[in-house]
Amino acid sequence: MKNKITLLITLILLVVASSGFSDEVKREPVTGILGAVPVEVQMLESQLQGKKTEKILGVEFHTGVLSGRNVVLAVGGIGKVNAAMTATLLIDHFRPSEIVFSGVAGGLNPDLAPGDIVLGEKTAQHDYGEITASGFSPQPTGKDVPLFMNAPERLLSLAEAAAKDAAMEKVPTTQGERFPRIIRGVIVTGDVFVADASKTAELRKMFKADAVEMEGAAVAQVCWKQNVPCLIIRCVCDKADASAGTDFEHFLKSAATNSSKLTMSLLKLMAKQQ
Ligand code: SAH
Repeated sequence: MKNKITLLITLILLVVASSGFSDEVKREPVTGILGAVPVEVQMLESQLQGKKTEKILGVEFHTGVLSGRNVVLAVGGIGKVNAAMTATLLIDHFRPSEIVFSGVAGGLNPDLAPGDIVLGEKTAQHDYGEITASGFSPQPTGKDVPLFMNAPERLLSLAEAAAKDAAMEKVPTTQGERFPRIIRGVIVTGDVFVADASKTAELRKMFKADAVEMEGAAVAQVCWKQNVPCLIIRCVCDKADASAGTDFEHFLKSAATNSSKLTMSLLKLMAKQQ
């Protein structure tokens, strides 16, 4: 009798252990995708196959398959606090292999026009620091935290490769239309919409920044702390100058579309490499 019970317990333990093991092995990689405003993820969400929605602490997360890759998609809201909260929830609940932020930004690099894309090789918070009599100086947000977060080379080069067949919308210029430029660059993040040429010049001088937005460095920092590879993709929709408000309204949709198309192409490459 005792022997039979021991055998039964051993069997149960074996089944439990092996099911846990196979669960670990079978778990398919999932990519987290974030945007700040609904239009940034609209196109991605509309193409999501087998869409399921889960609301966690007020944030909707959509899971499904996009370009052959398992994804979890969310609109986090504007600004660093919203972005950090959404990134943390996404990592905690869905354990993504990487997070890609797809959205729009103000272009600071004069070579960039609405429609061009900056891949965040480096991201930094431009509004965290110290103000003294001699002005503002940026600082890292902790002793162990670098001022600039670096994106992994794997995601940067994969995004560059993905740009080749992303079928993005052309960029209108005074000399006619041209293909969108995709550059690696510095993206700075702060809790302000920048619409002033003197601030633009300051950000360019202080950080050598190519684009300014309101979420990227926050997401990158959360990912860095949690060891999750992260790439910020931003399509320029304004030049962060006095016309930024009207340019933002005018180019938001097409810039969001270009960023989404690049993201879908990137997911396709990831699915191939899986
Ligand atoms: N009036 C708009 C403002 C959106 S804020 C609204 O309430 O919907 C701008 C968004 O686009 C942010 O998510 C930010 O990341 C990005 N962005 C685009 N251009 C920007 C700029 N010039 N400065 C800062 N963020 C910018």
